[in-house]
Amino acid sequence: MLPRIVVAGNGQLGQMLSQAGAPMQIEVLPVDPNGDVELGLRPDDVITVEIEHWSDSVSGLQLKQHPNFRNAAALYAVIDRQRQKALLDRLQVPTSPWVSLEGDNLQTQLESIGDKVIVKRRRGGYDGRGQWRWQKGDQPETEWAGECIAEAMIPFSHEVSLVGARNAAGEKVFYPLTRNWHENGILRASVANLPVPAEQQRNAEAWLGRVMDDEGYIGVMAMECFVVDGELLVNELAPRVHNSGHWTQEGSAISQFQLHLRALADLPLITPPVEGASVMYNLLGRDWKPEWLQVPGVHVHWYGKEIRPGRKVGHVNICRADVASLIDSLQALQALVDDDDKVVFDWSIAQLQG
Ligand code: ATP
Ligand code: MG
Repeated sequence: MLPRIVVAGNGQLGQMLSQAGAPMQIEVLPVDPNGDVELGLRPDDVITVEIEHWSDSVSGLQLKQHPNFRNAAALYAVIDRQRQKALLDRLQVPTSPWVSLEGDNLQTQLESIGDKVIVKRRRGGYDGRGQWRWQKGDQPETEWAGECIAEAMIPFSHEVSLVGARNAAGEKVFYPLTRNWHENGILRASVANLPVPAEQQRNAEAWLGRVMDDEGYIGVMAMECFVVDGELLVNELAPRVHNSGHWTQEGSAISQFQLHLRALADLPLITPPVEGASVMYNLLGRDWKPEWLQVPGVHVHWYGKEIRPGRKVGHVNICRADVASLIDSLQALQALVDDDDKVVFDWSIAQLQG
């Protein structure tokens, strides 16, 4: 009997985990961890998360205190950016220079990092929220003390991420590095299966593997990196399925969602096969159009949320057998999307053309 997988959080990630479980009849139950209801959890349920923060509500405590709540150690380490940075330092995983902002003299602490700094709230930030740019000469905010870390602004050439999984036996598998474009801290698009220097892939797998082993992690974890002069520098970890892995839904025979379920349910973990090339285009505060489905390789994923400016309400995967066909599809789709999003396709095509 496979366990039921209960997901703390009932947004799109839980929804997509449910979809991935359906063919194998793995029951996936996303729940609101902030609710005040009795969840009726069973002793053999396995609990996973799609979000990292929730309150000690009635439901929240039932989830956290369940004997099969997975990855408490990793969540504890990652949930707070200071602890996360300290973990990466301890495991000798390279990250941007950083300092924890404390007490008075913020100016001196910030300057110790560099002339251009990003201040990040230790807890609760996502999609670029809870971040501030600071430059030498700017007045620091006193509220940053005790609440934020500061990081050197990294002059990266591009951003990539690694998505991988580990099971209870310590076996680990990974997808190829994905190239990502963030704008104002929010992911606009990802390109998958570009040629990557073997050393980058090897280093990234070694680092994420080291983190997962250290935390006794079970499931999918993502690691975001900057590329600087061809070398990787880790930006941050996400102890869950990740937006930059959404292309795997049709770009691999084993999606990151299925991979996560395999690890949690102790089903065989094999390296996900990836052929062809894929682009993931995030729908930020905009609807999709039926005519998009005329374009070969287009797969629409709609989250069923109310459309609000800038909100992630869906994504489109464009997956083709080779780069030339993918570029054809991207050009065809580009002609059909809103003007503001045409730039996403220019960027994606430029990455594919190298
Ligand atoms: P997520 O939603 O992925 O959790 P986030 O809001 O937690 O994102 P980060 O990933 O730390 O925050 O930052 C968002 C983006 O801001 C990065 O992908 C990158 O584009 C930019 N950024 C963050 N830190 C730095 C840095 N030290 N130097 C340069 N750019 C940065
Ligand atoms: Mg990020």
